Amino acid sequence: MEMTFAEKILANYANEKETIPGQIVTVQPAHLLTHDNTAAIIQKVDEELNKYGVYSKNLSIIVLDHVIPAASEKTAINHKKIREFVAKHDIKHFYDVGEGVCHQVVVEKGLALPGKLLLGSDSHTCSYGAVGSFSSGIDRTEAASLMLTGQTWLKVPQSIKVHIKGSLSKGVYAKDVILHIIGDISASGATYCSVEYHGEVEQFSVDDRFTIANMGVEMGAKNSVFFVDDITKQYLKSIGVNESAYSPVIPDLGASYMQTLDYDLNNVVPMVACPHTVDNVKPADQLEDIEIHQCLIGTCTNGRLSDLEIAASILKGKKIHKNVRLLIIPASKQIFQEAMQKGIIQVLVDSGGMVLPPGCGPCLGAHQGVLSPGERCLSTANRNFKGRMGSKDAEIYLASPATVAATALNQTITDPREVIE
Ligand code: SF4
Repeated sequence: MEMTFAEKILANYANEKETIPGQIVTVQPAHLLTHDNTAAIIQKVDEELNKYGVYSKNLSIIVLDHVIPAASEKTAINHKKIREFVAKHDIKHFYDVGEGVCHQVVVEKGLALPGKLLLGSDSHTCSYGAVGSFSSGIDRTEAASLMLTGQTWLKVPQSIKVHIKGSLSKGVYAKDVILHIIGDISASGATYCSVEYHGEVEQFSVDDRFTIANMGVEMGAKNSVFFVDDITKQYLKSIGVNESAYSPVIPDLGASYMQTLDYDLNNVVPMVACPHTVDNVKPADQLEDIEIHQCLIGTCTNGRLSDLEIAASILKGKKIHKNVRLLIIPASKQIFQEAMQKGIIQVLVDSGGMVLPPGCGPCLGAHQGVLSPGERCLSTANRNFKGRMGSKDAEIYLASPATVAATALNQTITDPREVIE
């Protein structure tokens, strides 16, 4: 039987010849990601952990990234408990504060590989589809049980084929593509589906694919995936992973899909998701009277080197508007270092930007730039729910790094095509 990517990879992991949508399979994922929520997760199975220990010290990837450095006594205690857990159980893949946002770290360290199944107690675990993994978020109780048993169950999802054609115009980026798609199919348009990207995708770098896969969950997807090609192979080689280390999974030609969606990139323009849902999408040039107080470039969606590079190309030699605060958060220490070496950080700081440590920053509204009532933030993040970044009377708009940089110059939402030379 011809199978989709999800059907095939879940069959592999379930030791079945084939699977069909709706089937429940028991799987042993290659890795389980947890972050600052690890303390809350291990608490659920404290007694069992003391008695039996973890299933495997290689299974868990733990990254401290959400509130780093600790912003309160409570978060400091949480971090301490996690470090103690890591030492006690000899957890192999632990990344302490300052290493970066968990999803970036997982990919950068070569832990997400083509053909692998990864689960995580964070909804944006779907990001690793950028390199051909099946990856998905699960809840904390499931994560706790996985730590103990090494296995869990999954329902095989239906699949949606997204067929891309055409090419991006100047000033239009991967973020605009995914906002365009989510605006079209809605925040629930792919609920519990596996979304596969086909067609003219070779124009997307791994950074671009990361942005698109990362936002899969914003349309309800279980996972979101690009298939391995020369771009993926080159990227993996650049981080020290040879082809012999992975076995890509690609869907069969005759696989059947719940839906096929066609998008012509020639029709995509700079887009902005308006408050308070990600699918409330409008072209940037229709929002030019909206005043912004805080601009944020970073997060697991758009904090990579190419994102900072695009922002720097717009801000070079210019000053941001005096009424705007511009926050820059490299997605990892490695990206921060590369951006410093290339002079990108210098340009961003010269323009008036403020650099925060590699991590989630104010994305989840816990620290480092929360919003007051009545304030508006234009962010490169992936969520704009009410109260997500502080006050529930603040507003969050989402856009590409180029749109955020252009807006930081003018204070009102700006289509980056107006400032790109
Ligand atoms: Fe979640 Fe934001 Fe951190 Fe990404 S950057 S993992 S969306 S809190």
